[in-house]
Amino acid sequence: MTDTPYTPFDIVFVVGGTHGNERTGVTLVQHWLQNPADVQRQTFTTRLLLGNPEAIRKNVRFIDRDLNRSFLPQHVDGETAEAYESGRAREIAATLQSDRPGKRTFAIDLHTTTAKMGITLITNTDSVNLAIAADAQKRLPGARIYCFADSDRINSCLRAAADGGLGVEIGPIPQGVVRHDTLETTYGVVQEILNTLESFNEGNFAPPDPHLPVYLHDRHMLYPGVPSGAPPVFIHREIEGRDYRPLAPGHPIFHDLNGQVVCYEGVDTTYPVFINEAAYYYENIAFSLTRKMPLASLFASG
Ligand SMILES: [Zn+2]
Repeated sequence: MTDTPYTPFDIVFVVGGTHGNERTGVTLVQHWLQNPADVQRQTFTTRLLLGNPEAIRKNVRFIDRDLNRSFLPQHVDGETAEAYESGRAREIAATLQSDRPGKRTFAIDLHTTTAKMGITLITNTDSVNLAIAADAQKRLPGARIYCFADSDRINSCLRAAADGGLGVEIGPIPQGVVRHDTLETTYGVVQEILNTLESFNEGNFAPPDPHLPVYLHDRHMLYPGVPSGAPPVFIHREIEGRDYRPLAPGHPIFHDLNGQVVCYEGVDTTYPVFINEAAYYYENIAFSLTRKMPLASLFASG
């Protein structure tokens, strides 16, 4: 971990509806726009933002392309520059950076999942983001930290446009609906992240426990290719809903209605997440594989 003193954040953006059919964040942002004192703190200004208004209006994930994969220069200015979400990414990046230089911004991006992910805090390997995730987790029993190494995938997401940020994933909940329990859980998660940022800004902040377990993204598991005329396969009953539980080599992961089973062929035990996530069907992704490791080992190789 870094020994550099932590630099406070000046503006915290709470973002809902980056995916237009994830209504929990949309509903909370709409609530807080009417009740802004709920999300204000002494040491920073909180701003509220709806990520993808057109997708929210249609209750769909996106219009032309995934907004949360649209923040790299090649998306904003490249061949996809005409996409609705590329325009939105330009606007959001400008908003997140409008008070620079001299102001540090942090983005809390609110998502939901159809997978049984519980409370998940998503971050890159930036030591400040990890420290904030670790501190927030102490306030959120059962929450897990899902971490992505530096890559186009993580650098193309909305919160990468701010100086710091966390993604919040809560599930399971179907797409396109609001439920009281998910709403209340997400409400509490945002409050605790804001409380963490307040402590961080006040310097009342301990470095994270180096032994804290984190789940490092490894790769996606695609649905197996099915020859034309063969029956379709789907997630095996034995891993359905078992996000973050160990999956050993040889364990069943897919089957079909004829009883044909496909087993996991990796060499090491993995920890699958986003199992049977509805939003990933169009990309043929069945789930993602992670490696569970102590926080300190993320930095072991420098
Ligand atoms: Zn989402």
